[in-house]
Amino acid sequence: MDAQDVTADLTEVLYTKEEIDARVKELAAQIDRDYEGKDILLVGVLKGACMVMADLSRALTSHVTMDWMAVSSYGSGTKSSGVVRILKDLDADLMGRHVLIAEDIIDSGLTLSWLKSNLESRGPASVEICTLLRKPEAVKVDIDVKYVGMDIPNKFVVGYGLDFAEKYRNLDCVGILAPHVYQ
Ligand code: 5GP
Ligand code: MG
Ligand code: MG
Repeated sequence: MDAQDVTADLTEVLYTKEEIDARVKELAAQIDRDYEGKDILLVGVLKGACMVMADLSRALTSHVTMDWMAVSSYGSGTKSSGVVRILKDLDADLMGRHVLIAEDIIDSGLTLSWLKSNLESRGPASVEICTLLRKPEAVKVDIDVKYVGMDIPNKFVVGYGLDFAEKYRNLDCVGILAPHVYQ
């Protein structure tokens, strides 16, 4: 079988594997400093955060436990509505824990804003957010995101966990999906 060059489906590579690695390591160093002496409960939001979780957790030197949540945001088409349903809840009890939500991308910010308040209601010592990517829209939402990898233009991106119709999550770069793929 011929190897498929999926990068041909991208109009542009925004960040290469090397650039992502370097930025994730910077974020991890910052997080290690901020959480010195504390154990971190990393919460990954399935499925997009799989790569950030894997890379960020390995770059941290703090004690880390990892848990996962799956949520679906109700809404028509491609815009999230802010009404969120939990498909898979955490296994961990958050009481007294330092929770760090790891995310792939914040677009409208509605999903994460809901998630942060939901987790805060479970008695944790703290809840912070680390996202690899953030789009300009998210900046308008009143949500405190402590760790942001990169601010990106308002384009639909794939790779490094981010999908289009469940594809492209396995790309090691982040790129803009070519219109011919979805039109
Ligand atoms: P929001 O912040 O709008 O509530 O939704 C965030 C979720 O929408 C992300 O976790 C991701 O699943 C999806 N999303 C938002 N922007 C993009 C994008 O550019 N590409 C991909 N693949 N998913 C996106
Ligand atoms: Mg996500
Ligand atoms: Mg998706």
